[in-house]
Amino acid sequence: NADIAMYQAKESGRGQAIFFQHKMFDDIVHLHRLESDLDKAISQDQFELYYQPIFNNEQQLIGFEALARWQHPSRGLIMPLDFVPIIEKTNKIKPFGLLVARKAIAQLDKFRHLYGVEQCPSISINVSALQIVDDEIVQLIESQLSHYALPAHLLAIELTESALIENHALVKARLKQLSDLGIKIYLDDFGTGYSSLSLLQHLNIDVLKIDRAFISALAEQTPEAKNLVKAIIHMAQALHLKVIAEGIEDKQIIAQLTAIGCHAFQGYYYAKPLAVAQLASFMAPLLNHKRHSNRVIPNSV
Ligand code: C2E
Ligand code: MG
Ligand code: MG
Ligand code: MG
Repeated sequence: NADIAMYQAKESGRGQAIFFQHKMFDDIVHLHRLESDLDKAISQDQFELYYQPIFNNEQQLIGFEALARWQHPSRGLIMPLDFVPIIEKTNKIKPFGLLVARKAIAQLDKFRHLYGVEQCPSISINVSALQIVDDEIVQLIESQLSHYALPAHLLAIELTESALIENHALVKARLKQLSDLGIKIYLDDFGTGYSSLSLLQHLNIDVLKIDRAFISALAEQTPEAKNLVKAIIHMAQALHLKVIAEGIEDKQIIAQLTAIGCHAFQGYYYAKPLAVAQLASFMAPLLNHKRHSNRVIPNSV
């Protein structure tokens, strides 16, 4: 260390290089620790699902997206972008995905008991490209839904465009299986990937979720940004798909998007993803609405 300090004093360029190496080393150690903690995290189930509400264009609650968090025993709450890639890299995405599906369906059962099947909000879960090719997830979803006797239309899976392109034939078969069960399919982060229009038509997709990037661009009020979102929504309508706009942070955008024909909204304007303990108080003031009578995306988001 004294040597390093001396080098640093001598020539700052070299010092920065050494500092950088140390930083990289720390990052690698950190990653390794997280990686080795993951086994335990999965076997002890240290994951929690947070739920972010989705509202229709009449401002009625229609469902929630389940978003995973890792409650690490010493590091606290870890966000999915910081651990899902590690899970995928270490081939643990399968048991993780099964945990997520189990939890989400158990939550759906709670909603159904609290609010009745007619008023039950739907839940969507995120499924990655690596997960969807595996048929165990489909079996688990099917058996959990029947275990609780829950109608399948209350559950949705969110897939990104990249998941559709890899292993196309297998993915297509899985989506058909899920769709035949009555589960809804949402295409997540739409517009950021490379899915073709024919893909949208030939896969069993119910809903497009327009990526947050397009929605935040709307705030700048340029005609280009607005026309782009309009084009996506019109295309979705032509293909009989519903549209959810992600990343809604302010109210004006909701009116704009509603005028263009957007069906549903999700974002910090309504709520950040909520811990399970926060759900009851979030739901309480919404319960006077007759949500079910006007579902724009029938019986699901
Ligand atoms: P996503 O599926 O696109 O989820 C939306 C992300 O945007 C969430 O981040 C959410 O908190 C955030 N978000 C929602 N509304 C707003 C807003 O108004 N403004 C801003 N700035 N952000 C907003 P989160 O929870 O960190 O999740 C990140 C990603 O991790 C998700 O993106 C999803 O791809 C992935 N992910 C989360 N849970 C799971 C899971 O259980 N399994 C898998 N495979 N992936 C997951
Ligand atoms: Mg999602
Ligand atoms: Mg998304
Ligand atoms: Mg997104």
